[in-house]
Amino acid sequence: MSCWKLSEKRKLEEECRVFNENWTEKYFFTDVGVKAACLICSEIVAMFKEYNLKRHFQTKHANFGHNLSKQELQKKANDLTKRLKQQQNVFDKTSSLQKNATKASFILANKIAKQNKSFAEAEFIKDCMVDAVSVVS
Ligand SMILES: [Zn+2]
Repeated sequence: MSCWKLSEKRKLEEECRVFNENWTEKYFFTDVGVKAACLICSEIVAMFKEYNLKRHFQTKHANFGHNLSKQELQKKANDLTKRLKQQQNVFDKTSSLQKNATKASFILANKIAKQNKSFAEAEFIKDCMVDAVSVVS
């Protein structure tokens, strides 16, 4: 890395735009997009600022991990990071499923309104379900 890039990186860090990976082990934070999330209580800190993360850790989790070795702390930080990422994946999946279900129900409502038919008509329902499945699956 050239000197120019190093100084550029430092500038970004000073401007709170870069998450420093050491903060995960030091303060149990991880970056979620442009914000930092506490691995212990899931609180979001809006800025990548060491002072903010340090203050959060020291005031809210002062005794957290005080009986653990450095290695155990690293492992704990890794485990908690993995857990958070898994939760985020589940959340992303759930929200896209909900969006698709909502979309499907709009399509059905639209078809019913357009055709001016009731749900009792089997052929029509089948037609609707084919449309719904194409969106949900
Ligand atoms: Zn916390």
